[in-house]
Amino acid sequence: MRHTRTGWWLEEAGAVTPTAPLDGDARADVVVVGGGYLGLWTAWQLKELEPGLDVLVLEAAVCGHGPSGRNGGFCETLWGDATTLREQAGDSAALAVCRASENAVRGIGAWCETQGVDAWFREAPMLRVATTESQLGSWAESVRAAAELGAPEEIVAVSAEEVRARCASPLFLGGALHRLNATVHPARLGLGLRAKLLERGVRIHERTEVTRLDRDGGVGTRSGHVRAGAVVLAVNTAAAGFPGYRLSLAVASSHIVLTEPLPDVLDELGWTGGEAIVDSRTLVHYTRTTRDGRIVFGWGGGTMGVGGRASSRLELDRGVVAATREALGRFFPQTRGHEVTHAWGGPIDVSPSHLPIFGSRGRVHHGYGFTGNGVGPSFLGGEILARLALDRRDKWTRLALVDPPRRLFPPEPLRYAGGALIRRALVAKDAAEDEGREPNAPTRFVASLPRRLGLHLPR
Ligand SMILES: Cc1cc2nc3c(=O)[nH]c(=O)nc-3n(C[C@H](O)[C@H](O)[C@H](O)COP(=O)(O)OP(=O)(O)OC[C@H]3O[C@@H](n4cnc5c(N)ncnc54)[C@H](O)[C@@H]3O)c2cc1C
Repeated sequence: MRHTRTGWWLEEAGAVTPTAPLDGDARADVVVVGGGYLGLWTAWQLKELEPGLDVLVLEAAVCGHGPSGRNGGFCETLWGDATTLREQAGDSAALAVCRASENAVRGIGAWCETQGVDAWFREAPMLRVATTESQLGSWAESVRAAAELGAPEEIVAVSAEEVRARCASPLFLGGALHRLNATVHPARLGLGLRAKLLERGVRIHERTEVTRLDRDGGVGTRSGHVRAGAVVLAVNTAAAGFPGYRLSLAVASSHIVLTEPLPDVLDELGWTGGEAIVDSRTLVHYTRTTRDGRIVFGWGGGTMGVGGRASSRLELDRGVVAATREALGRFFPQTRGHEVTHAWGGPIDVSPSHLPIFGSRGRVHHGYGFTGNGVGPSFLGGEILARLALDRRDKWTRLALVDPPRRLFPPEPLRYAGGALIRRALVAKDAAEDEGREPNAPTRFVASLPRRLGLHLPR
């Protein structure tokens, strides 16, 4: 098994030659900081809205090599957050966000089609399953929320037989079907976007870390300065390193193991419809197939970052990868004789509400907090941030994801200590439930704290 920082998707997509770092000072109409999906979709939307605009992207490493190039490739809507959205903003605002997130999933598919980017986009429903008795019915609130918003078809409860007809894991006891979902090849999508932006005349400087944001529209790097009409901050967990954003998000992590191609196993499981599958634990497992017949299997139970920053060792956590691999064998015993070829991981930007947050402070426009669901929603984020940067107000900038009521995480060292304690309790709770035991009272109490604080942990 090759355990690397960046994973198999980027290997499969092939190497790119980094563009030249920024050398000295520059000017642009809009400077985008961060070349993951969010920054790149924002740059794309800016050119859609104003083709003549001078857009500059500054990326600390290489575009698409962060989490955008190594995630699970679940391209989801925000229907799973409908309950939170209703509580936060009311029914019509919740419905508007959910519908906009559907357009984002379809928009990514349409973009790949029209641009000729083969990012393995495949539309198929997502299954939320129960793998223990205690998880059964955990989707009831989401099913009710969709129905009460007038869209009962979006999330539908299904029996164990219906789940197993789509994927016959012995662990699956029932579930809910999310109608609209897709899977993508994350790295091909990120690098495809990078290539199309370069073709379109967007200037991209890689290996260029932004170290300072000025509210009047400038940014500083180690060796230069860019003056611009607007700045877009799209740096995922690194946002917590900029003044004013430190307590706005927390850092968790997610890890993936990948099997060799095993089409016979997929046939035996009857798992040939391309469904993405997630269980209903707090620290979720998620799994999907690839075009070449592999199983991608992930766990959102890795360690948290320190000081609001992702630890540089987080991707290489062998203990977390071993636990992920063990879970793969429980879900799909048929994989046991087969090789796990790759493992990797990455940081997750956790927002207090589980929902991404977009907004503006002066001429700096930000997006962060995807909480493990950024592939689909980052397209919508690009539509929003492009408009904020151009000072256009319309149905996108009025969505409830823009400037929501401000909620903060506790400061360090409380955040790290509390995060580590809560993670331990969540791991213990999930393990007890996997074994059919009731977690003890202190574990239950500590594990319930995120929810009491309105924090939903990610994959
Ligand atoms: C293992 C794993 C599995 C996941 N699975 C899924 C999934 O299945 N579905 C899903 O929807 N989401 C998933 N996610 C989350 C998803 O990958 C992210 O939400 C999404 O990629 C966020 O995009 P982004 O542009 O905000 O961030 P990134 O992709 O992290 O891009 C930010 C970029 O900013 C750059 N940067 C940082 N600091 C600076 C600076 N100071 N100056 C310049 N550049 C800077 C970074 O180098 C990086 O390239 C997963 C994440 C991980 C780690």
